[in-house]
Parts: sequence; C-alpha cells; structure tokens
Amino acid sequence: MAFKSDIEIAREAKKRPIQEIGDKLGIPTEHLLPYGHDKAKVSQDFITSLEGKKDGKLILVTAINPTPAGEGKTTTTVGLGDGLNRIGKKAVICIREASLGPNFGMKGGAAGGGYAQVVPMEEMNLHFTGDFHAITSAHNLLSAMIDNHIYWGNELEIDARRVTWRRVMDMNDRALRDTVVNLGGVSNGFPRQTGFDITVASEVMAILCLSKNLDDLQERLGRIVVAYRRDKTPVYCRDIKADGAMTVLLKDAMQPNLVQTLENNPAFVHGGPFANIAHGCNSVIATKTALKLGEYVVTEAGFGADLGAEKFFDIKCRKAGLKPAAAVIVATVRAMKMNGGVAKADLNNENVDAVKKGCPNLGRHIANVKGFGVPVVVAINHFYSDTDAEVQAVKDYVAEQGSEAILCQHWAKGSEGTVDLANKVVQLAESGSANFAPLYPDDMPLFQKIETIAKRIYHADEVLADKSIRDQLKTWEEAGYGNLPVCMAKTQYSFTTDPNRRGAPTGHSVPVREVRLSAGAGFIVAICGEIMTMPGLPRTPAAETIRINDEGNVEGLF
Ligand code: ADP
Ligand code: MG
Repeated sequence: MAFKSDIEIAREAKKRPIQEIGDKLGIPTEHLLPYGHDKAKVSQDFITSLEGKKDGKLILVTAINPTPAGEGKTTTTVGLGDGLNRIGKKAVICIREASLGPNFGMKGGAAGGGYAQVVPMEEMNLHFTGDFHAITSAHNLLSAMIDNHIYWGNELEIDARRVTWRRVMDMNDRALRDTVVNLGGVSNGFPRQTGFDITVASEVMAILCLSKNLDDLQERLGRIVVAYRRDKTPVYCRDIKADGAMTVLLKDAMQPNLVQTLENNPAFVHGGPFANIAHGCNSVIATKTALKLGEYVVTEAGFGADLGAEKFFDIKCRKAGLKPAAAVIVATVRAMKMNGGVAKADLNNENVDAVKKGCPNLGRHIANVKGFGVPVVVAINHFYSDTDAEVQAVKDYVAEQGSEAILCQHWAKGSEGTVDLANKVVQLAESGSANFAPLYPDDMPLFQKIETIAKRIYHADEVLADKSIRDQLKTWEEAGYGNLPVCMAKTQYSFTTDPNRRGAPTGHSVPVREVRLSAGAGFIVAICGEIMTMPGLPRTPAAETIRINDEGNVEGLF
C-alpha cells in the first residue's frame, strides 16, 4: 500500500488567507501582523484587550513511552483540534515550533502528519516567522557582552572559568559542543573553554515560553545566572546589562504565530523548548490567548507522560495558573508491542501477546495523569499495520483500568477519524470532574521534590545523589530558589533512567548526576543520565538529499 508523504499532502492543502482564520477567532485584521499570506502574529494590544474574558477548556495531549519514531502526539493534537471543530466546537490548537537542526539530520517535521497537519508545513519546519533566529540572536548577544565585559577590565570580577552561559545555534553540529574562545592574543580577550548548545536548549527559549508579557520576559532575562565569581557568588544577566537589548530582539518573537490546519482550523505555533533540560511545551502566551478565543484548546507536551505531562502540570500549569479539563494519552499498537519486548524490525507482524505485555506501561501513565486530578481518555493512533485483535487488546486493557480507549484514524482520514475522540473529550471536559493539582507544593525542599516525582511518577524506590548535589540544592534553597519546581531530564523511552527498560518497571533507583539552576525560566533541572544539548548529524544526514526540484519545490524534507 502506497501512502502520500506528509509534504505531498501538505502541498495539496486548500489554504484560506490567514485573515479568514483570524476572523474565525474574532481577531480583527489590524491586529493580525501577516508574514506572507498564510502566517500571522497576533498583536500585543489585542492580547491585552482579552483580559477578563472567560477561558475555554484546556485539553492536554500526551503519550506513553514512545518508540523512536514518535507516537503521533502532534498528529493527534491536530486531529483532535479538527475533530472538535467538526462536531461544532470552537477549538484552537497550540503546538511548538520546529528546530532546524533535526530537519537536516533525520527526516521528520513538527507539524503533525498525514491528514492531520498544520500548514504551511515546509515553512513551519524551516525559518517560519524567524522566532528561533531572534532567540539565537538574543542569547548570543548576552554571550558577546559577557566576554566583552571580561575584556574591558572585568569590573564584576567574573571567574572566566565559571562562565556558565554558552552560545547557541539552531543546527545539529557536534563540532561545537566543546570549544575554546578568545584565542589569538591580547587583543582578542581571555581564552576560556565553552561550547554551543542547540537554540531550543537555550534558557532564553524556556523564558520566552513561560513569560506572561514583555515586562515579565525582561524581568526573567535579567534573572539568568551567567557566571560565578571566585567566591562562587552569582553574576546575573542584569549585571551585564543585556536584558533590555535582548528584550528588544525578542519583541516580535514573543507574539504568538497563527496558522491553520489542512481543514482550515486555527492553530497557534509558538515556542519550542527542549523537553529534557526544559519543560517541552508551547508558549504560555499562546496557550492563554487561545483559551480566551476558543471553547477548547488542544495542546501537546513533549515526550511520554512521565516527563512531558508531569512538566506540563508541575511547571507550565503551576506557573501560569492553568487548569486542564482533560487529558488524551496517545498510544499506538506499535509502541505497546515495543514496550512488550518486540524489536523495531518486527513491529509490522501481529502479536497480541506482546501488545498485552506492553499495556502496563499505558496503565501506569493513565494512573499517573489521573493522579493530577485530570480525567483521561486514551487515543489509539491507528497505523496501517495494526490488526483488529491488537486494537481490541488495548481497548480491553484500558477498560479494565476504568478508562476508555478510542480508535482514531485522523492520520488517514483527518477529522472524520477523530469524531468519537472529540465527543469523549467534550463529555469529560463538560463533566466538571477535573480537579487539577500539581504533584508537590512549592515549599517542599528541592531534593524531596525530585524524590516525589521519582517515586510517584516513575515508581522508583530511591533517588541517588552525591553529597555535592544535595549541598548544591541546599545552597540554592538558602539563596531563595527553594520554591522553584523541578525540571527532570531523563530518557523518554523508559520510566527508569535506562532507555532499554520498557514496560512498567518497579524497584529501580534514579541517579541524579547533575543539577542546574535556570533562574530566569524558574526551575531547577535535575539531570538523570546522558543529556545532549547539542545533537550531532547521523552518518547520512537528510541534508544530502534535500534540494529544490524543477518545479521549484523543496524535495527530500519529510
Ligand atoms: P510526536 O509528536 O509524538 O513526536 P508526530 O505526530 O510528530 O509524533 O508523528 C511522528 C511521525 O509519525 C510523523 O511523520 C507522522 O506523519 C507519523 N505518523 C503519525 N501517526 C501516524 C499513523 N497513524 N500512521 C502512519 N504514520 C503516522
Ligand atoms: Mg510532537
């Protein structure tokens, strides 16, 4: 069976002018700042004018522990948004922007797939409205100003060995992971070792995504810790006096981008923080704006629910005062089989036993999400190779857990494939059964927060951490950072820190290797395992076959 590729489908889209999409949400044309015919930013004046309006209902789309290909969270987010519109609800989709780096490495975009996509997908996956370029520039302006400060006499007494602020670039480039800068003699500054991260890993990205408005943005940028002195006291971005100019660079990037789905429904695509060392959700400003404009807002959190949903609830919702009304957990028969021990190469063969064996992974995610007081429905994202018996096995298992699993065919059919899911989501959201609460209180000690997540969400027995890590956490508590939430950075493939341990393991321990303070974003990162902040390209990067063909279309991307 031959399927059209995502880009082929996207190219056939019958897009409406973006003003028409804005009109559906009641955004007057003068408040839409168009970037071409099919993308626009929403003005701050309009967003401000929405204050006091009633909020719509917030629906989170999350997933089980994934297979390497992804489970179709974005695809399902888009499919559900279209499905809700199809059944007559005013629904808005909120997803993240794409990073350039991975596009040229392994194929795969961030705009959904099949007949559940956001368009223009090519642009969304390339330069889009320039937000990531702005974030890269703002980040690197601060880097330049730090080295410049040291060069001109270092009045702040920065210890050049303890500059924590690196540089960023939106590219997969392993050559830049560790670098030495300021080489070449007296006129070039003081040599020191540093490196580059990918733009999505920048704290500026996380800050942009958590800020309420430009004032809040500048305030948070000012709070970034950029370096330490010899006595280990912190030096802040505001000491370098970069926060004002950075805010200027980010002025437009801060405004949400409006685009449309293949079915001409509104979607905000804004922000894209890493899901490991940051919280992995689209921007607060986009989500809040969407809630003022729609009856329903469907949004996605990165990775599986153990990481993505936990951080969505404990960081984004806690900090932005959001109260989700329901959650959709995306499961695939393929991932159930993988969690049940089947190798990637054998995923296309029917194996009901392996599906059943993998189901406890789904079961634990259901219980975890319900534990936040949010009602759950499971969406089985249907793949062509899934058999009826396999699908039934998932449905039966979920019913035993006291929830419902609904087969969804949005990838193949668009909104027609999510009508049942949409109806169920409306029923859950209208039932008023949601009673959201974060997992832990603000005033719990930092180490105990990590333990709470590890025990309650990962079902670990213990958290292992050296004395130096515990001491560091205590020091931050004394410095007034004790009330921050914790941002866990661990593998997405397992509840444990070992990517190969699938299913629903118990009795494991969670080693914390390092802790980092993101004072501007407002969380403490706990790193459990290897975390890459500058990816590399594979042996044969997708870039080798990307080109513009005779019709002037991009080929080889997706
Ligand atoms: P996630 O958001 O979970 O990372 P995506 O929604 O981006 O996953 O989907 C990853 C890839 O899988 C996309 O290329 C998409 O086209 C493909 N995909 C998603 N759902 C299906 C499906 N039901 N059948 C075939 N391919 C799918
Ligand atoms: Mg996604």
